[in-house]
Amino acid sequence: MQTMQVKNDFPILDKVLYGKYPLVYLDNAATTQKPRQVVEAMTEEYYNVNANVHRGVHFLSQQATELHEASRETVRRFLNARSTAEIVFTRGTTESINLVASCFGWAFMKEGDEVILSEMEHHSNIVSWQLLQARQGIRLRVIPITDDGLLNMDEYEKLFNERTRIVSVTHVSNVLGTINPVRDIIRIAHEHGVPVLIDGAQSTPHMPIDVQELDCDFFAFSGHKIYGPTGIGVLYGKEDWLDRIPPYMGGGEMIKNVSFEHTTFGELPFKFEAGTPDYIASTGLARALDYIRSIGFEYIEAHERDLTTYAMQRMMEIEGMHIFGPKDITHHDAVISFLVGTIHHLDMGTLLDRLGIAIRTGHHCAEPLMHRLGIEGTCRASFALYNTREDIDALVDAIHRISQMF
Ligand code: PLP
Repeated sequence: MQTMQVKNDFPILDKVLYGKYPLVYLDNAATTQKPRQVVEAMTEEYYNVNANVHRGVHFLSQQATELHEASRETVRRFLNARSTAEIVFTRGTTESINLVASCFGWAFMKEGDEVILSEMEHHSNIVSWQLLQARQGIRLRVIPITDDGLLNMDEYEKLFNERTRIVSVTHVSNVLGTINPVRDIIRIAHEHGVPVLIDGAQSTPHMPIDVQELDCDFFAFSGHKIYGPTGIGVLYGKEDWLDRIPPYMGGGEMIKNVSFEHTTFGELPFKFEAGTPDYIASTGLARALDYIRSIGFEYIEAHERDLTTYAMQRMMEIEGMHIFGPKDITHHDAVISFLVGTIHHLDMGTLLDRLGIAIRTGHHCAEPLMHRLGIEGTCRASFALYNTREDIDALVDAIHRISQMF
């Protein structure tokens, strides 16, 4: 598979910025670009199928329902879940995590009970538990990281006690690029009889996921980070857990019968899907997953590993370059956070933009991690299947130019 061929599927990558700089898009951890196949499938559905799902007896409604449920099956296959009952459509990783924190917390946690998180979590996997803390008096326990940006697994084991109710950790850090040893995290939690939620926002675009093999109890990811549309994501949950936790929101679609005295809830996964779902986005997500399958994770992993290794080598040529996160590439995914000398991350990001290069700057919704690192923010370049070594050369050349200005 040629990267140039892949690039042709993403029309936005042909853009020229400020009249002369070809776009070099390296902000993929924030959101990925969308291939034609995704955009066209969604447009086609709006033009030719559009009708509300699940409720209608008419032709279009049935067709839209079939497409929506076929998309759920595509997601099931992508994660290798046992059943589509375990695939809940949400608005994204954030909503998936909030759903678990609220509903699992409501059903199974009381004052003094504990959730184990890590020092490298995204705010969505911190604040959602703090809301539960404010409501129900639960406690947050935090796995520290090592100076290399890895989870301290010895400290992790020590955090378990009789009040531990759930572990909720990210698979891949959106700042450090660390690939966490989720199999060990899950095995250790299960030895203590504790379920695990994995935040897969940054892993799903880069590596195959098999929720049965991982044996995680919940798994969350976002469509827009995996070449799909915005506004849709997934919560996978083992059927047994989803059966036992109460619904998140009330409304249409999630009920069997309603009276003022008593309501019975719908079957899984509909119990968690109140209101009209984004059935156009589910089609887009399914086409994005088909697209990834057509390219194959074998290619994606090899290509992105090559890019990350090349980028680390080339970036280290720059005077004053500091790269955060694991140096060992086997623990490092396609995200590189860096600072150069005393150049402020915002200045670097703004000047790179003027040269057509899109990176992210700031705390990356991980302020506690910034505190641990003793910094305010970083510059972050993150790669996707359509990036090339030429993109990295452009980044390195531009950083050289900017460094000389300072
Ligand atoms: N978790 C991680 C690790 C992330 O990187 C992100 C987004 O950057 C999120 C959660 C939140 O994802 P979303 O904004 O799509 O809900």
